Amino acid sequence: MTFGSGLVKGLAVTLRTMTRRAVTQQYPETQPELPPRSRGVIALFEENCTVCMLCARECPDWCIYIDSHKETLPAAAPGGRERSRNVLDRFAIDFSLCMYCGICVEVCPFDALFWSPEFEYAETDIRELTHERDRLREWMWTVPEPPPLDQAAEEPKEIAAARKAAERAGEAT
Ligand code: SF4
Ligand code: SF4
Repeated sequence: MTFGSGLVKGLAVTLRTMTRRAVTQQYPETQPELPPRSRGVIALFEENCTVCMLCARECPDWCIYIDSHKETLPAAAPGGRERSRNVLDRFAIDFSLCMYCGICVEVCPFDALFWSPEFEYAETDIRELTHERDRLREWMWTVPEPPPLDQAAEEPKEIAAARKAAERAGEAT
């Protein structure tokens, strides 16, 4: 290749590139168009959490921290046995260790963990990336609604039970 032809080829590449649309993402001036169910951050719906510890045990990075204590409840009926239940004291996720695999969300048997597409929570102090339960709770408001059921799908058991209970209550009044 001679010097002249190399120069012409180089200029041709430059010209071709100049006329193409730029692919650079102008973030943060322009927000990226992410799919609605992107894995941005994990949200906790703590009312559903029974402190079963499954998520913490299955997390490959050991970055879910849960503390709890037992509480004894009186028997439901006279002569019955006292019951005990776990009360959540701490639930935190360290997002500096999390690898966004989604295992915790998948294994939770009580629908207490959800993906939110929010991703703007970078910090200058790594310790701030451990989100405690209040912060995890706040992410719940950014979780998208579940996709609508297929029209031919069976009514979910929870909704059927709630509808029947409401009908019974309506008849009683
Ligand atoms: S997404 Fe994966 S790594 Fe992150 S907290 Fe859940 S199980 Fe752990
Ligand atoms: S798996 Fe679900 S219910 Fe069990 S401790 Fe984790 S968030 Fe709570």
